[in-house]
Amino acid sequence: MGQQKSKPQKPLDSLVKKMKVSQGFITLYSNEENTLYFALEEQLLNKDILVVTRLAQLPSGYSAYLNAGSKTAEQVIRFEKKGKTIYLKQISFTNQAEEDDPIAQSVAENNFAPRIAAFPIKNKEEDRFLIDVSAHFMADSPGFNIIRKSDKDLYKMGGVDKKRSSIDAVKSFPNNTEIVHTLTFPVGKPPRSNRSETFSFQINHSFIALPEDPMPIRYADQRVGWFTLKKTDFSSPALKADSYRIVRRWRLEPKDSVAYANGELVEPVKQIVYYLDPATPMKWRKYFKQGIEDWNEAFEHAGFKNAIVAKDPPTAAEDPDFSPEDIRYSTVRYVASTTRNAVGPSVSDPRTGEILESDIIWYHNHLRSYRNRYLLETAAANPKARTLDTPEEEIGEMMRRVIAHEIGHALGLPHNMKASNAYPVDSLRSGTFTQKYGIATTIMDYARYNYVAQPGDQNIRFIRQMGPYDDYAIEWGYRYFGKSPKEEKEILQQMVDQKSLNPIYMFGGYGNDPQAQTENIGDDPIKASSYGLRNLKIVASNLSDWTLKPHSDFDDLEELYGELLGGYRRYIYHVHRLVGGVYETRHQSHQEEAITYENVPKEKQLAALVFLKTNLWNTQNWLMDKTVVGEFSNDGILDRIQNLQKAALRRFLGAKQLNAIQSSWATLPGSGLSAEALIDQLVNDLCTNQTASPDLLERNLQLFLVEQLKTLTTSEDLNPTLKTEIEEALALIHRWSKRMKKTASSSQKAHYSYVYRQTLMD
Ligand SMILES: [Zn+2]
Repeated sequence: MGQQKSKPQKPLDSLVKKMKVSQGFITLYSNEENTLYFALEEQLLNKDILVVTRLAQLPSGYSAYLNAGSKTAEQVIRFEKKGKTIYLKQISFTNQAEEDDPIAQSVAENNFAPRIAAFPIKNKEEDRFLIDVSAHFMADSPGFNIIRKSDKDLYKMGGVDKKRSSIDAVKSFPNNTEIVHTLTFPVGKPPRSNRSETFSFQINHSFIALPEDPMPIRYADQRVGWFTLKKTDFSSPALKADSYRIVRRWRLEPKDSVAYANGELVEPVKQIVYYLDPATPMKWRKYFKQGIEDWNEAFEHAGFKNAIVAKDPPTAAEDPDFSPEDIRYSTVRYVASTTRNAVGPSVSDPRTGEILESDIIWYHNHLRSYRNRYLLETAAANPKARTLDTPEEEIGEMMRRVIAHEIGHALGLPHNMKASNAYPVDSLRSGTFTQKYGIATTIMDYARYNYVAQPGDQNIRFIRQMGPYDDYAIEWGYRYFGKSPKEEKEILQQMVDQKSLNPIYMFGGYGNDPQAQTENIGDDPIKASSYGLRNLKIVASNLSDWTLKPHSDFDDLEELYGELLGGYRRYIYHVHRLVGGVYETRHQSHQEEAITYENVPKEKQLAALVFLKTNLWNTQNWLMDKTVVGEFSNDGILDRIQNLQKAALRRFLGAKQLNAIQSSWATLPGSGLSAEALIDQLVNDLCTNQTASPDLLERNLQLFLVEQLKTLTTSEDLNPTLKTEIEEALALIHRWSKRMKKTASSSQKAHYSYVYRQTLMD
């Protein structure tokens, strides 16, 4: 046994001479030679410690799903001492049983926690224990989960090369300890861009103290949008183990519970505090703070005042130890990078869902996307947006709303893509309506701009804001009852029963529901997209005027044109999704007036196909304005537009897609559109009903339709009755092309002859 052979132990101080010390949660001793010791205080033993592992840096092109900041593991561990050894034990909190229930014993036995590492104690003191963890962090140790098996095989990666690995930075704070290290692997089959045959990863581990007294849980309700954790309850009276979900939220308790119970607004015992990053430019700080504190109004619905505060970072004189890495501080980081994004990750207690800390990251270039889309989506009706030098207060307003959205995530709220469906499209053209209610019921939808309002509409709100759903969701998650989780569940259930079927308070957003789409606004995609396109055409014809400055090159114009195509594509797909669409309404069995799944009515689907004929299948010459395209592109634009059409057509004509459309039409309530009717309509719209002589794009699309239909006739997946329908459709096109080639002009004759030959069936 290793520990029996170990040398007589020395006092701790004599073992850490010349090493750098970082005092804190776990006291660290380290040196430049990749040596790292943990000094564990006795009271730290057997405590639940959360360990979050994230990639700090990774090889470029390594994975489409991972990026800097991606979490690779989250585990609860304990340090346990036995004799002269400290064991690192991994604990799971997925399986719960009430402690006085005899089954708790069995749950414990069947979830025997694995020991993932063992460290001999080096020092002789009995109240703190020095262990050498260098080897643990110089290897891909169990529990880190950095390299997936599939990636290991894909790239033929070898084991860690210790010579090229290192412990980079270690720091302890009162409630957390941060370890940053680099692991390097030889790679047998690297991606083409990698000539070094090496992958290096920089990894960040956070060891986090979990609260001594766990926060009471709150049971989730799938009708209200909350981030959740899944648990399994073996004490459940049901015959099988019940799985249930709890919500992730901050611990808010009233300072004065008597006043709170009397309905007065009360401050929480502990406010949620966000610090701005010292790197945040002064001129934007005001907007960041507003975005954070916008949530106070929602918290008032839960009975709290000043629940959330934004603060400037302390100066070095005020607090020399301030660090965004310190878990006691939640921060909004301002990162100078070309990434166009913002994210809001948070760390929560896996036992209870209590959010302990969150760091919002704002990437500087995010502004650029917002600036561009503000112009493209609103400038027709909004003169302030007709420039790339967007006025500061407009940009500030957009930043404020992005921050509010990210804070929403950090408070526990996921996206609610159903929210924008609550408002009638025409209300979005009303100044009084939009100023009061915004453009969607929540900031948690992807409803960024009011693209519906038309030139001449007065006093319009163009930028998103908070809405009534935010108040409701926060009240549901944060109202304090001082009762047991089960008692609270009853009260909350009633609150949701009264509201969940009212579109204002509806939650949804996953699956095939055309009422829960990203980036759309209003309750009628056809109407909203028609308004959006009308505006986009005005912008397209003014694009040069509104964006070019004297002596400038055409890079901005090219960028905006690309994003204009992107905007066009979004409006098209908002309508596309109606075809074969199924509405989804989250509800519980006692809400008898609702039904979970229902087909989009047939008339609506046919109207969507009419929209697609006018705005997609027919050539959109306005997208190819020669004075714009001529400034930056000498080829490729036609292909880009054609590819957009083809992709939209292909989405209808996949075997899986058609089978699914047929299945929902045949089995769900609501009229719906059959797959046969869809195929008939597409053949009509693209070929047989065509009046004018087709141009190049339209002829190509006809050939593409034929090609897709022919592929379907040989598909093994397609439902057989649909296969017959496809053959009939091809026969119809065949007869039509036969007629057309007789009467067509000489230039078109070859086209119809080709279609005729392509549709000859053997
Ligand atoms: Zn989001």
